[in-house]
Amino acid sequence: MHSDIQEVLYSEEQIQDKIKEMGELISADYEGRTPLVICVLKGAFMFMADLIKRVEVPLEIDFMAVSSYGASTKSSGIVKIIKDLDVPVEGRHIIIVEDIIDSGLTLSYLIDVLERRNALSISVAALFNKPARRTVELEPDYSGFILPDEFVVGYGLDYAEKYRNLPYIGILKPEVYTR
Ligand code: 5GP
Ligand code: MG
Ligand code: MG
Repeated sequence: MHSDIQEVLYSEEQIQDKIKEMGELISADYEGRTPLVICVLKGAFMFMADLIKRVEVPLEIDFMAVSSYGASTKSSGIVKIIKDLDVPVEGRHIIIVEDIIDSGLTLSYLIDVLERRNALSISVAALFNKPARRTVELEPDYSGFILPDEFVVGYGLDYAEKYRNLPYIGILKPEVYTR
């Protein structure tokens, strides 16, 4: 375990087992369709890579980068598109892949953007979910783990751009924030 980590919440194996289940659900739901799977950068890149390996329908992928947090651990409430999609979403079945839903602000903004671009359908797959912190009403269609109201890192999620490479999800030691 990394020396800055206080507690591992879910191990690499637990995460992979959950993603396999999520992939099976998506495969069943999207049978006969070719969804456009959108990864919300950067946090969801690892989840995206592992999830699509478990989805057994033909699919396309694209990436979108939005900013909401900066180097802080709380949402600013302001969502900005840093990198937009390369392909049009009009008439497509969209699956948005997110690392974690916290306030829900980022996702509700993204869903709004994609609806205005005339996506045919939009669903959300989120590996982690902190329902206690929601400020807008929003539930993922495919949900991995419910987390307590704690800031987590690992498995793609960062603190000040670090710890994304950890294969598990965990909580940082408090002294890391005051360094
Ligand atoms: P929301 O808009 O739902 O508040 O959260 C937006 C984004 O903030 C998430 O997609 C994620 O990238 C980041 N975020 C939310 N909670 C956490 C957390 O506990 N740890 C980390 N590293 N990022 C988080
Ligand atoms: Mg994210
Ligand atoms: Mg971040």
